[in-house]
Amino acid sequence: MTIPLLLIFGFGLMIGSFLNVCIARLPAGDSIVSPGSRCPSCRHPIRWFDNVPVLSYVWLGGRCRACRAPIGIRYPLVEVATGLLFLIQAWWLPPDPLLLGHHLLFTALLVVLFGTDYDVQRLPDVITLPGIAAGILLSVVTGPAPVAALLGALAGAGVLLLVRWAWKRATGVDGMGLGDVKMLAMIGAFLGWRQVGVVLFLASLAGAAIGIGLTVAKRRSLQTRLPFGAFLALAAYVASLWGDALLDWYLSLY
Ligand SMILES: [Zn+2]
Repeated sequence: MTIPLLLIFGFGLMIGSFLNVCIARLPAGDSIVSPGSRCPSCRHPIRWFDNVPVLSYVWLGGRCRACRAPIGIRYPLVEVATGLLFLIQAWWLPPDPLLLGHHLLFTALLVVLFGTDYDVQRLPDVITLPGIAAGILLSVVTGPAPVAALLGALAGAGVLLLVRWAWKRATGVDGMGLGDVKMLAMIGAFLGWRQVGVVLFLASLAGAAIGIGLTVAKRRSLQTRLPFGAFLALAAYVASLWGDALLDWYLSLY
């Protein structure tokens, strides 16, 4: 049991390394395959032995080999986070390779969207739109039921379009980008319509808690925009594992 889990963690580190590239390049519309990895400071190509997840960062002392410019700590952080998120999925899910693959793909998409929303407040279409299609197609193989996935995509898009419309009507300004709409459609496609409400509730809860915390700590003014997509990503990850249990518990209260 432990060896497969360690392999999944190592696999997550490698995928995380690739997701770093996606987070840095996709919002600008750059290719994720060429050119190869380069130092952001001196453009020096990074060779394969300096591009090993986490370990390279440690043995290079967090600096570029060519120019000694510091490498962001976020690179190894994204790698370790992806490794841990993969590990938790493998540990919690029933031992079904197809189901695990489905969940790991969803996790990887959420990591990229979290990163791009956090960095530049963008949720690229090249992730969300194929994500909607992938969620619906994969539902045929591993669930939720294809109808639930299709309704999930519609419910996810519909509920945020409604919120967006109501906000605009009440305040006269756009409070939410269409990226959030497409992202919740993708989440609904992967998790099914029953989880759309759970994800929205968890994301709002996390956003409110962190927003209030930052305001109290005087780290932001009330006008600062919080990256809602990042909270949607966190909520969707939690719901992908425990959403059904949460929903059953909630419904049992009535
Ligand atoms: Zn450099």
